[in-house]
Amino acid sequence: MSTGADAAGAGSTGSGSTGTGTRAGTRAVSAGAGRPAAGHTGASGTGAAGPLLARTRAELEAVRDRLGRPVVLVPTMGALHQGHRALLRRAREMSMPNGCVVVSVFVNPLQFGAGEDFGRYPRALERDLAACAEEGVAAVFAPSREEIYPEEPLVTVDPGPVGRLLEGSSRPGFFCGVLTVVLKLFHIATPDVAVFGQKDAQQLALVRRMTADLDLDVHIAAVPIVRDPDGLAVSSRNVYLSPEDRSTALALSRALQAGAGAAGSGPVGVLAAAGAVLDNAAAADPPLALDYLALVDPVTFTAVGDRYEGPALLLVAARAGATRLIDNARVTLAGRP
Ligand code: AMP
Repeated sequence: MSTGADAAGAGSTGSGSTGTGTRAGTRAVSAGAGRPAAGHTGASGTGAAGPLLARTRAELEAVRDRLGRPVVLVPTMGALHQGHRALLRRAREMSMPNGCVVVSVFVNPLQFGAGEDFGRYPRALERDLAACAEEGVAAVFAPSREEIYPEEPLVTVDPGPVGRLLEGSSRPGFFCGVLTVVLKLFHIATPDVAVFGQKDAQQLALVRRMTADLDLDVHIAAVPIVRDPDGLAVSSRNVYLSPEDRSTALALSRALQAGAGAAGSGPVGVLAAAGAVLDNAAAADPPLALDYLALVDPVTFTAVGDRYEGPALLLVAARAGATRLIDNARVTLAGRP
């Protein structure tokens, strides 16, 4: 569900994983099962047996109807890392005392453009299931492409004006794909709460807006960005980075830090400080190829004016090697003395 894309591998099919059945530490579920699977510890826990694995809507329904409430959903594209794990932990807290966490693992073809990395996006269901077991997840929903899109959808979610800016401008159709699959997952999993990361700030804002505008009865919770010790925001796509790309990519978080540090000098100062770091990185080897740097209103995602005061989001998207990365930071602009 997140962002960042690069060329290569378009055209492959599949949703991220194949195979069925019970894996070590996982329990498959069959649709229509009338009672909890053996070893299920009840509403809030999953116990040592690990999460139930549902591959179809019917299987998820069978699981869902016997789980406690609140059901807290964490939508992901899999290849789970520490950022996802922070979401899972937040979800677990929010599910207490009687609820449960459901994780969806689905590489959503609808949000990938032609020439993007759908075909080679990392897929690691076995490891994801092990991570979910460690985090006390009750059920993992890992559907096939055909299960989610039995036919090419003709009706999809229009993300509106915010969805056409920034990521939406760089990746036409991206937010339509994201919101459409999120809406479908909400209908299929019927969560009370859904957890998203601030790493994808525009996505988070659009999911919130969709939930409000379409009267969805789901509370949206947000989790701060998880970073590696060197500052790089954790992402499933970081595995694409060569060591050289990675050192170039560090300019994103450095630029955000520099920008946030210049909050006292107003929007112009923030953009200048962040821009200087990115300019340096553009001259590095390998060079950073900037897509956008923007200081925006956190609701409209339009650029703030030079005299703006209040909360803002500093957003950056750039390519290191063939890998497109995004990052952001919240900046509070106070009046200058
Ligand atoms: P993805 O699997 O990339 O679609 O991401 C699934 C969810 O994890 C989205 O809500 C992301 O915003 C969130 N996420 C991904 N990376 C991070 C991170 N480094 N910190 C916090 N949340 C993250």
